[in-house]
Amino acid sequence: MTSRLHRGALLHFLDDPTKTAEDSYAYFSNGALLVEDGKVIAAGAADEVQTQVPLGTPVVEHADALLMPGFIDTHVHYPQLDIVGAHGEQLLEWLERYVFPTEAKFGDYAHARAVADRFLAELLRNGTTTALVFGTVHPESVDAFFDAAAERNLRMIAGKVMMDRNAPAYLCDDPESAYRDSRRLIERWHGKGRASYAVTPRFAPTSSPAQLAAAGRLLREFPGIYLHTHMSENISEVSWVRELFPHVDHYLHSYDEAGLLGRRSVFAHCIHLSEEEWERMASTGCGAAFCPTSNLFLGSGLFPLREAERFGVEVGLGTDIGAGTSFSLLQTIDAAYKVQQLQGASLSPLKSFYLATLGGARVLDLEDSLGNFLPGKEADFVVLDLAATPLLANRLSHCENLFETLFVLSTLGDDRCIRENWVLGELAHERHKEFVDLSA
Ligand SMILES: [Zn+2]
Repeated sequence: MTSRLHRGALLHFLDDPTKTAEDSYAYFSNGALLVEDGKVIAAGAADEVQTQVPLGTPVVEHADALLMPGFIDTHVHYPQLDIVGAHGEQLLEWLERYVFPTEAKFGDYAHARAVADRFLAELLRNGTTTALVFGTVHPESVDAFFDAAAERNLRMIAGKVMMDRNAPAYLCDDPESAYRDSRRLIERWHGKGRASYAVTPRFAPTSSPAQLAAAGRLLREFPGIYLHTHMSENISEVSWVRELFPHVDHYLHSYDEAGLLGRRSVFAHCIHLSEEEWERMASTGCGAAFCPTSNLFLGSGLFPLREAERFGVEVGLGTDIGAGTSFSLLQTIDAAYKVQQLQGASLSPLKSFYLATLGGARVLDLEDSLGNFLPGKEADFVVLDLAATPLLANRLSHCENLFETLFVLSTLGDDRCIRENWVLGELAHERHKEFVDLSA
């Protein structure tokens, strides 16, 4: 039995701050987190938690730090690690010019595994412990990813891309092979350790109605698996869907008619949706991934967070690497704030850190295991360094309350703020050590 007591300032969320401002979070400036065998036993004020600590339990002190649940990235593409920052295109041209050529290499397990290892190292050094992840069309890409995630004990959700039209022949499957390959991967990976499978059509333009129907069949045959795709990211894409599916009422309908909506269905972007689409997402329990750095980078548009809130659709944050420009959820929060500013809305830092933790867990239907420090939750947590840079330390010294501290942290923070990342109660990343290793 391994147990440790972590001492330091501690913050976690109990609900969406938009719904219940006061009771939505718990903050302890002198806090403690008791972890045993990878699970949270207790979290709260240090003097209260200490009464529950067995004699001889090792104590880890975290000075000038804030402990939070590990960040959750609800939409990201691991195979696009090598094309982050590709210049000059909007969505459809960007896919053709940069994404498809790089994804072609992932039929080779060794290549896929090497990229998966680099990708997971980036997640950890940015404070992320769980993600919903695109593979490529190749089953090998998923095997490599889950092998790499299992080696690090990470809770990850991923799947093979389904794509049978409007893409280069070298990246296309067909409805039958997509069904067969996905099925094999589900049987091999879903529920194995901390892995979960997501049926992953890239988006409606690259899947025929027959292929979307095959995706629906998988969801019916394997309750508990996920559906992960893109929707309404770019105006040209939305018009294209209208041409490709002339009989549907709107974009969401192309997925709805295939049986793809449900509590474990996550749609990335959701920028240009009608009220009818928001209503249908809410009534079927679908979640939305808000990917602000990506939406700005590709010039796609501004995610209407207030609409999602008005209709009661759960939202998480996505980095959407490689259209997104940072692995850091802190920088993603910073971009999310600016995207809301451009719409005349002021995103509260309480809300944005909720989105990065418990909100993400809710979108992924993982609230029972992740998202905060309630007893019994899996002990994935991040130690944020409040003195990571001279500017941050100086600016934070002028903050008068938690609200200001969080806002400054997300405005000035990045991967340098991730002092440590702990997975199932074990140290998985240590920034200081990485620095020493790099300079050795
Ligand atoms: Zn994406």
